Formats: sequence, structure tokens, C-alpha cells
Amino acid sequence: MRAIRRFTVRTVLPEPLAPLDTLAQNLRFSWHEPTRALFESLDPERWQALHGDPIELLGELGKARLEELARDEALVARVHELDADLREYLEQPRWYQESFHAEDKPEAIAYFSAEFGITAVLPQYSGGLGILAGDHLKSASDLGVPIIGVGLLYGAGYFKQSLTREGWQHETYPLLDPDNLPLTLLREADGTPARVSLPLPGGHQLHAQVWRADVGRVPLLLLDSNITENDEASRKVTDRLYGGAPEHRLKQELLLGMGGVKALRLHARLTGGPAPQVYHANEGHAGFLAIERIRELVEAEGLSFEAALEAVRGGTVFTTHTPVPAGIDRFSRELVREHFSGSAELPGIPVEKILALGTEDFEGGDRSVYNMAVMGLRTARLANGVARLHGKVSRGMFHQLWPGFDVSEVPITSITNGVHGPTWTDPAFVRMAESYLSPEQVASGDGWLLPAEQGGVPDAELWAMRRTLRTELVRSARRRVRKSWMDRGASPAELGWVDDVLDPDVLTIGFARRVPTYKRLTLMLSDPERLRKLLTDPERPIQILVAGKSHPADEQGIGLIQRLVSFADEEGVRDRIVFLPNYDIEMAQTLMPGCDVWLNNPLRPLEASGTSGMKCALNGALNLSILDGWWDEWYDGQNGWAIPTADGVEDPQRRDALEAAALYELLEDTVVPRFYDRDENGVPQHWLEMVRHTLATLGPKVQATRMVREYVERLYTPVAGSYRTLNGAGFAEATALADWKGRVREAWHTVRVDHVESTGVADAVKVGDVVGVSAYVTLGALAPQDVEVQLVTGRVDEDDTLVDVTTRPLALSETYEGGRYGYHGEVELEFSGSFGYSVRIVPTHEHVAGTAELALVAAAQA
Ligand SMILES: *Cc1c(COP(=O)(O)O)cnc(C)c1O
Repeated sequence: MRAIRRFTVRTVLPEPLAPLDTLAQNLRFSWHEPTRALFESLDPERWQALHGDPIELLGELGKARLEELARDEALVARVHELDADLREYLEQPRWYQESFHAEDKPEAIAYFSAEFGITAVLPQYSGGLGILAGDHLKSASDLGVPIIGVGLLYGAGYFKQSLTREGWQHETYPLLDPDNLPLTLLREADGTPARVSLPLPGGHQLHAQVWRADVGRVPLLLLDSNITENDEASRKVTDRLYGGAPEHRLKQELLLGMGGVKALRLHARLTGGPAPQVYHANEGHAGFLAIERIRELVEAEGLSFEAALEAVRGGTVFTTHTPVPAGIDRFSRELVREHFSGSAELPGIPVEKILALGTEDFEGGDRSVYNMAVMGLRTARLANGVARLHGKVSRGMFHQLWPGFDVSEVPITSITNGVHGPTWTDPAFVRMAESYLSPEQVASGDGWLLPAEQGGVPDAELWAMRRTLRTELVRSARRRVRKSWMDRGASPAELGWVDDVLDPDVLTIGFARRVPTYKRLTLMLSDPERLRKLLTDPERPIQILVAGKSHPADEQGIGLIQRLVSFADEEGVRDRIVFLPNYDIEMAQTLMPGCDVWLNNPLRPLEASGTSGMKCALNGALNLSILDGWWDEWYDGQNGWAIPTADGVEDPQRRDALEAAALYELLEDTVVPRFYDRDENGVPQHWLEMVRHTLATLGPKVQATRMVREYVERLYTPVAGSYRTLNGAGFAEATALADWKGRVREAWHTVRVDHVESTGVADAVKVGDVVGVSAYVTLGALAPQDVEVQLVTGRVDEDDTLVDVTTRPLALSETYEGGRYGYHGEVELEFSGSFGYSVRIVPTHEHVAGTAELALVAAAQA
């Protein structure tokens, strides 16, 4: 076969239409409905066929058609109007500039993620993590937050899914052509493509070019190793998302983290933007960003590794996204060692120090492993999980990094995920809302509770909209089912029945997500007979749409899909339950608005947050979910349903059976009857009350703008402050902090609580009594200003340990010879029951984030 040389011919737009190029290049088109409508109007059928890809559309229109369009004055006016609107969006002050006045707010924030799900046109995501990253950037743009995204450009993105005749997942990896994507290559002043390079073992270098996508106001830099300077192996480093062996994966993460920092520097050099003061690692994949920044400081500023680490940590935020151990990146230490040794050794940075950051050198850890989440936590000033419950689970999961502290003191907070409203609310639904309610009434949620007489959306209208969305879903699902059967080898003649699958008036349940085992795709099949009855009920049937990709290496997940497809293939039910292949953003945008009920049944508490149910809530669909992730926090008894969990039942099969039974029961007794309970106008009053309540209460909370504001206020701004302190003035504070930490670590074995006395503890103490506590301590080589002596109070649990602790400092009261000191304090007993107290010493310094930072504690011996 002859090798085909490919190149992309770019469309040249007639002058009057020139701004279409800007509108197509900025990814705001993906969530800005007027811009989408403009592109669609150029050729509605093509727009559909091209899945809403404006660059492809412009490319296919052809010279003659473009010239014809350029003579359409109304169109040209509209193009210029939208161009001006985009410019205004990009330049005008927004929330960050106008209402957020903290002095310390960062000038720039770098946001690193292995995946970004922004639009179906740029398929660089596998699931929730990527979509969240995309929604983070979009909302940061809407708020004017000066973020820069950093990621990789995968040549084939994630795989496309189809089914074999027998219902097995089949994966293909169509190559993307970056020249035909809304991307711009970073170039040097002389026009040559700019490069970043990393040393690899064996004398090799890994080179990458850098593409820039514009997500509204937010630049997103994507590194791409598929260039001729690289050898064959290195060209493949960015071939696909989450593919390949550990070494491939490690190289991707080195490129993302270390190459990503280099790309930021390159971009700043070419555009003159400010250097970030906050580096946010979205999950552990990007952890090596800390190593590159340490290298910079060691090389350029002559700092020690330890001082550089303090300066770097002072500007880093880490978000953990999963409590599932298999979801955490763990490499063999030897593999990591190899990639920082020999020709890949970083001058002045001993590999042992890099290894120490990620080693599981704690109880229950595996010392031969390099753990990217552990590294993320150790190199970040502040860390968080992605829902309240997930924060708690994460504190438990990583407790061993802070031995001696209470679980509640583990320094991992939580910020609950959100979703980007304009991306995930159906345009028809938005139009309906806007025709009755003011933007403020929608934003606050209050508008949804207004009766029709007071200008609210009438019941009949809301219900008609729900039917419109359901109808649109049914229509698109039929197309997908037909296509899927054709891919499975069926002939059109066999597929007459497909035109009638699903029904726009039947209660519609959706289930779509990745297919790791803990999400339990097939829980609904636990009792197939019971499910069949629900699906085929002659009066009040339900219908179910299922979608989801399994990681190609996850045989179990692939088996679950096959089981579900086999069930859905059965003649008796195939028009009521369908599996839609190739779940992606485009499908999600029709699926979630069109469902009445969104089902989620993970194994609690393994779902960190989940976001698809939030997208449903924005469109008035109701959640039916296990109390896990965000639902555990925001389910309020009226905004949907909670599937009771069998927490504590050890046998997984029994647990599944119990939870499945609870699910069927909820459907049979509550969900189905309520959906079909209609008033004289055919409107389900009680159901609509729940819809309105969902829109009113969840609508405002699930917004990613709410989430990004929390990141700015609770994490980015404090971290920008510590960045400035620790990176200012010749790095004096970072050096002093590193020296102090070294001194404290060395001397810590000499620190102890010698003796504790209390006064006022009689046999019968009661709430309100005051207890005095005196502690006598030895600080050895340390001084009182190096430590805090704390009184720890709390409940005593069955195991005789203090839980739910509160700490308060004791005051220095005496100084003795030999580094010994007396401390004193008082505590009022605040609750009844089994009260306990203890005294401990922790290191403290004005520049540590909290007293747990060094993970050192000296407690009184019992
Ligand atoms: C929202 C979304 C997800 C994430 O769903 P979860 O509820 O977090 O599992 C995954 N894939 C697509 C295409 C999505 O739109």
C-alpha cells in the first residue's frame, strides 16, 4: 500500500464572514447557544451530521456556498454581532475582577489534568474526571478567573465504542487531525513550532509541541509528542488516553507534569502573561509538576531541594478524586528511579529525594510502590476531596500519612463538584425558563416555585417541556439503536421494529457512566423477572436507556456490558430497554434532559462525587440514587429518592441483592405510581412538585460556578498568599522554613510530655464544670516557640481512644532547667457522657499550613 501524505486545506472565508473563524476557534461555541444556532443556520443537515463541529462545517461548505452566504446581509450582520459579543465576553470584567476583592487573589492559576472533556469535537476525556476539568475551565472563564489549563493532546483521544453481534464491546481509535480541531500551535517568533523537551533514560530526549485551545477566556495548553524530532517510541507517548503499559503511562505523566510546567513557561515567554502563583493538580497524574518546579528553583536560584520543596508546596493545590484503590496511579519505585537516573538525572536533585515523596512508607503501605496520590498530598499546601462524604472517606484513607493525629485532623477538606450550567441545560429548557423568569429568579432557584398567577412557569407548560425533551431523546435513541444494530451486522430488513422502540409517554429511566465494577451497571438485572415486569407493565411501564464505556483492560466491566446487552436484546423487552453505544458528551446532552429519572447505584462510599445526576437536576429530571457522593449531601427527601444501602453487609452478593430489592420496591411502590398519577389535565401534580423543588434547591447548588468560587476563596487565594510569602525576597522564608523543619525532625525524638495533672476532676463532674490541666514537658533541643502544647478533648469510644477531638493550646507557665517547661490551661466540660482529655505536643511555625503539616506529634503516655 502506498503511504498517503496528508495535509489539511484550511478554508479561506470571504471577508464579510471572516469572524466565523474566530467564533469556530474559541470553544465558547460549545456552550453558547446563539453561536451554535448561527453555525447550524449555515447548513442544518450538515451541522447535525458533523455533530456540531463548526470547523468541519466551514471546511465542507465550499467556496460557492460561502460566497453566496457572504451576500446575505442579515447573516453577515449576525456574524459581526456575535463576534462583538464574544469579544465583550473575553474582555469585560467579570466576577473575579468585579466582586472578588481579596488582596491576595492570584494573578494566574495553572490547572493540570490528564483529561479535559469540553466538547464532543475535542474528545480528550474518558469520563467524569475529564468532564469536571472541562466544566472547571468553562466556569472559570464565565467568572473571569485567570486560569490556564494544562494537559496532553492524545492522537486518538479515548476509544470509540461499538458492539459485536454478541454484545461485546469493540474499541476503535480513530486518529484526530489537530489541524482540523479548534487548536493553535504555539510558534516561535520566526514561525517555527515551539518545543519543550525532557530527558529520558538511555540518553534519549522526549520532545513535544504545544497546542493552545481557547475555552472562552481560558487558554488550555495541550502537549503533543507526535512530532518528527522524536523516535518512534516517543512519538507514541501521547497516542491515546490511559492506554498501554506502566512505562507508557509514566512517560505520559512525566510529560504532563514536568513538560506541562515547561509549556507554561514557553507560553508566558511567547505571550507575556503572568506566571502562575497557584498550581492545581487535578488528581495525581500531574504530580511531577512539583519536581519540575523544584528543578527550576534548584538550578536558577541555587536553593536546596528542601527549600525548593517548601517554595513549591506553598503554591500547590491537590485534588483527590477517588476512594477506589485501583483508581490511584501507582508505579513501581524502580521504574520511577530509572526515569530520574543516568541521563535523566536532574542536576542537584538526588533521585532518592524524588522517590521519598511518593513512597508508601507508612503502616499498611507497600514500600516498593510510588503512589501519585501520596506524592500529590506531600507536595501540596492544601488538598481536597470532591464531596463532603468523599472528604471524610479520603481522610480515613490517607490517615496513615498523619499517624498520631485524629482522622478528623487529616488535612484534606472537600469542595463538592458542580457542572457547567450552559453546557448541561437543554437550550429548549433554557428558552422556556427565560420566557417566564428573570435571570435572578433562575439563578436563585426561587422562580421555579412561583405559581403561574404570579408569573411562574405553568404546570402544563413545564410538563409539556418534559415531554418535548423525552421525545427528542426517544428520537435520537432510535437512530442510535438502528446504527448499533447495523454495526452489529443486522440488515435494514430485520430492523423494522427499531422505529418503534421506546415511547415518548413512558416513564424514562437513564443510567450512563463509565463501567468500573463499583458502579454496578447490572444491579438492575439482579432479579430479571421483576425488572421484566416493570418494563412490560401494560398500564404503567417503564423504559430504560443505558450507556457506558468500559476500560478496554477491564474484563469484568466488558462482561457487565455484554450481560446487559444480552438482556436488552430479548424480544420481549427490547423496545423498553436499550443500550446506546459510545457514551460521550453529545449523547449526554440529550440523554440527561430527556430522562425522567436518573438512576445511580454505586457501592457506597466508592463514588467520589458523580456529576451526571447534577446535569439531570438542571433539566428537571429526578435522581434515584444510593446515598453516595454528592447525593449523600444534598438529597433532602423531596428532590428525588434515596435507595437504602445495606452498609455493613459483608457478603457482596447479598449486599447487591438487598440493595437491588430496595431499588425495585422504590420503583414499584413510589416512582412509577407517582409518575402515572395524573390530574384531569393529564399532569402529574405530585411529580411536578418534586421537579420544581429539584430545580429550585439543586439548580443553584450544582453549578460549577459555585464550585469554582469555592476553589478561589478556600484554596487558591490562601495558597497564592503562601506562594508569595515563600517565593518572595530571595526565598528567605522558604529556606528558613526548610531549615526549621529539618531541625524539628532531627530533634523530635527528644520531645516528650513528662507529666500531666488535673484539678477539678471529682467523681461527679457535670456539664459546665471547669477542669484545670497542667502539663510538664521536655522540649530537648527545641524551644517553646517551635511547638504548641495542646490539650486534646473528645469522646472516649469503645476502643478507649479519643474521637471527635477538639484541641486548644495550653499556655507556657514555667521554665525549668534542662529544656523542661510547664504549661497550663482550663477546659469547660461541654457535653455529657464519656469525656476524655490528653496532652500532646506538635511543631508549629508561622508558615506551616496547619499543625499536622509535619505529621509529628508527641503525646502523653497513658
Ligand atoms: C457527566 C458525564 C460523566 C460523569 O458521570 P458520573 O455521574 O460522574 O459518573 C461521564 N461521561 C460523560 C459523557 C458525562 O457527560
